[in-house]
Amino acid sequence: MIEKILANLEKSNCATDNIFLQAVSEVLTSLEPIVKSDPRYEQYAILERLVSPDRIIQFKIQWLDDNNTININNGYRIQFNNALGPYKGGLRFHPSVTTGVLKFLAFEQIFKNSLTGLPIGGAKGGSDFDPKGKSDFEIMKFCHAFMRELHSYIGARVDVPAGDIGVGSREIGYLFGEYKHITHNYDGVLSGKPYAFGGSLMRPQATGYGVVYFAREMLKEELQESLEGKVCTVSGAGNVALHTIEKLQQLGAIVVTCSDSDGTVYDSNGINLSLLRQLKDEGKRHSLEEYIQQIPTAQYTKKADYPKDAHAVWQYPCFAAFPCATQNELTLNDAQKLIENGCVAVVEGANMPTLPDAIEWLQREGVLFSPGKASNAGGVAVSEFEMSQNASMEKWDFDKVDRKLDELMRQIYKRVALTAKEYGVERNFVDGANIAAFKRVAEAMLLEGV
Ligand code: NDP
Repeated sequence: MIEKILANLEKSNCATDNIFLQAVSEVLTSLEPIVKSDPRYEQYAILERLVSPDRIIQFKIQWLDDNNTININNGYRIQFNNALGPYKGGLRFHPSVTTGVLKFLAFEQIFKNSLTGLPIGGAKGGSDFDPKGKSDFEIMKFCHAFMRELHSYIGARVDVPAGDIGVGSREIGYLFGEYKHITHNYDGVLSGKPYAFGGSLMRPQATGYGVVYFAREMLKEELQESLEGKVCTVSGAGNVALHTIEKLQQLGAIVVTCSDSDGTVYDSNGINLSLLRQLKDEGKRHSLEEYIQQIPTAQYTKKADYPKDAHAVWQYPCFAAFPCATQNELTLNDAQKLIENGCVAVVEGANMPTLPDAIEWLQREGVLFSPGKASNAGGVAVSEFEMSQNASMEKWDFDKVDRKLDELMRQIYKRVALTAKEYGVERNFVDGANIAAFKRVAEAMLLEGV
């Protein structure tokens, strides 16, 4: 049955949707044991319905840059599945954005959101707009133009977008401002808002901190190990990477790398986080080369000087690796190098950063591997906390959100590990996550009917 669904999907999707097919194939393969165990899934065509988005909204965004030149970009919102609650998932502004990329991200989001145990469905959106080199005014004008097209499709009980690559609290602020302007509605229609008007404390930190809480729990339960004093490698230098590095350092780990689209920094003394923030925090886009100008003992490797199927950031010895930049950034070559250098755990902060053959290799060699849909779910969880605070007009303090996040990440780990055990694939957290997430969504779909 699963082969037939994948073959049909391949026929009905175009070649640029490869990454979506990669994500669906990984999930459906995992689901084989559970699908066989309950005939209702086939009878009610749950898998066929699950792999097809509810709707794909595409629009044109027209905006004026600082020279008053007209610019045109494509905008999208993919509302994939709302069996468990309102559609929920980030907006990505990056030139690589296509419907294929967003379908993959929205599909993964259904499972991630289900794993949190919270009442949220799966969606994703964004634009091929490139924020790099744009002035603050241009970002504002683009966000306003984007919201003019999007506003009629979203709502606090309908679809609640958040941030992702290229969309931080500044962009969410501009998007919210325009939404309010058009609709006269002051409700929680977006999450990741600045704290000054409805944002939750800890939302900026949530994904990265959650990744580390998950890693801490997994290492403790599986290997009776802690992160204290351990060398870790992190890729990326954006929101998720910065907060993963911050929490790892707070727990006593020594983080020796970070990276961006152009290159990698290796600092054997541990990444200087305040310097990194000066270069990259809050949408700043300085080159990482400036890091070694300030700390000459560190090394910088240009991406262009590196082979295509390997990444400098994974060539350094580490106890645990945290890919936190983007999809498909950890290849089979990288996985083999990590193992050769003694890495015991790979914990995904980004969405699908590890290629399928690399995952297989890591698992076969006994490396603990956590898929992003489990380990990076802290971001969307705190987004849901923000929705709760907005709906009840409450403001929770930092410690309360932090405690709830820590507890939720532990629960996700337990849910994933126990499910893997129950279905005879102990320590396979990919299968455990997919099966546990699927069960909840499928049950809701069965109860709601066609
Ligand atoms: P940011 O835009 O803040 O940062 C992305 C980082 O990745 C930047 O340092 C960027 O470098 C780097 N990067 C992007 N493309 C590449 C590439 N092709 N090669 C190497 N580096 C690259 O995004 P986030 O930190 O928010 O998101 C990172 C990942 O985490 C994404 O996969 C996202 O979907 C996922 N995620 C994010 C959540 C959130 O709450 N923000 C929640 C859950 C998952 P440069 O600036 O040079 O492009």
